[in-house]
Amino acid sequence: MAKQEETNCKIHTVEDLLAHALALETDAAEKYREIADVMKLHNNPEVADLFMILASYADQHAGEMQEKARGMKIPHIAPWDFVWAGDNSPETADMSQIHYKMTPYHVLHIALTLETDARDFYAKIAKESTNKDVILLAAEFADEETEHVELLQNWIPRYPKPAENWEEDLDPPVVHE
Ligand code: ZN
Repeated sequence: MAKQEETNCKIHTVEDLLAHALALETDAAEKYREIADVMKLHNNPEVADLFMILASYADQHAGEMQEKARGMKIPHIAPWDFVWAGDNSPETADMSQIHYKMTPYHVLHIALTLETDARDFYAKIAKESTNKDVILLAAEFADEETEHVELLQNWIPRYPKPAENWEEDLDPPVVHE
């Protein structure tokens, strides 16, 4: 596997980590609510509810992070300065993918990719940081994201791939063979 070059070079402190994590979770909550709305329009209240749950987890995380950040000086990071700038930001849905015809199958796979990316993002920081506090906090965040990944993995089998032709680029990027 190709080594991802210096993805976390800008995360040196707990403050840096919280700044990124807050942005990530806030974004995720917003996108998940948009997906929930789309699912509601499609008369799929079950999947809409799941996305509202995912949004509430993200809200909850953001709240916990704000709590931790209290009294700290959290750097303001311009969007283009985030470590994932120019890349796909973890846990942030590409809204161009939220097609009006999107089925539960598709949105669940998008969410799985996002949660997996978020988990990997935190896990990589935990692995590569030399700051003890950053390592601990990043590991904690990675564990929380792992729970979301598992939640989605439990949901996915309930919604088999739709039979009709679907845009090729929406194939689930899940399994590496
Ligand atoms: Zn999550």
